[in-house]
Amino acid sequence: MSDSIETVRTVQDLRRIVEGWQASGKTVALVPTMGALHTGHLSLVELAKTKADKAVVSVFVNPTQFAPHEDLERYPRDEAGDMKKLATVATDLVWSPSVEEMYPGGFSTGVKAGSAASDLEGAFRPQHFDGVATVCCKLFNQVRPSIAIFGEKDYQQLAVLRQMVKDLNIPVTLVAAPTKREASGLALSSRNAYLSDAERAAAPALFAAISDVAERVAGGTAITVATVSAVETLRAAGFTKVDYVEIRDAETLAPAAGANRPLRVLAAAWLGKTRLIDNVAVQTPA
Ligand code: AMP
Repeated sequence: MSDSIETVRTVQDLRRIVEGWQASGKTVALVPTMGALHTGHLSLVELAKTKADKAVVSVFVNPTQFAPHEDLERYPRDEAGDMKKLATVATDLVWSPSVEEMYPGGFSTGVKAGSAASDLEGAFRPQHFDGVATVCCKLFNQVRPSIAIFGEKDYQQLAVLRQMVKDLNIPVTLVAAPTKREASGLALSSRNAYLSDAERAAAPALFAAISDVAERVAGGTAITVATVSAVETLRAAGFTKVDYVEIRDAETLAPAAGANRPLRVLAAAWLGKTRLIDNVAVQTPA
């Protein structure tokens, strides 16, 4: 196994390599990331390698998906560490453009995310999904993969991107990967690095609370009863603010309605200055 992976920083170099692979009949999967990689990201690359001949990992902290008051400046960056980790999962190519390469002077076109972006994260981060949709559209056009892998950790992002790919006829198949967690249940996230020791100790309560909601609703408890009590549990566990705990239709993210539809519990809550998101499926009886 090589510990140095080829890294390209211009669209021209990227295209030369990927087009060479495609000309020789190789299929390509893309794994978009913002770096500061953890084993959740690496699981996406492993999945990519089971679905395509070549795995391209993009590492780009996309400024347009951060609001001015958000954590763009302090977002963790560790290119050397990322490269070492990517080598352990046989990544074929790293696409790591500068902000100027991604958004050259004069750049002014964007994708407006569709209805899947309208609330939940969209309510608290109004421009976020437009930024995500635009950069992913660019990444799909730059790499031209047949497959792109995204984590269920960012469940609404997946829904927004599925809608974009369908609405705009983008020729890529999106594949969802399950969320990797610590033994405590805490979902791995680059933002966990922000947590103090005390916050880190409290953080697993988020997964515990949404798992409890999922279990209670599957057992027949009314949705509002279960979600209201989860908000109280999170406050008691030390979460300083709870943005939402919601149960939604797992496919459309519309408010849960009607029997026999798959459901998802989604939540976002703050520990001090750090905002954590997580989600789980409601298991329906077989
Ligand atoms: P990010 O770098 O945080 O934008 O994430 C890049 C990709 O990794 C996205 O598709 C995320 O959903 C996915 N991802 C982030 N955390 C996890 C996790 N704990 N398990 C699986 N996938 C994840």
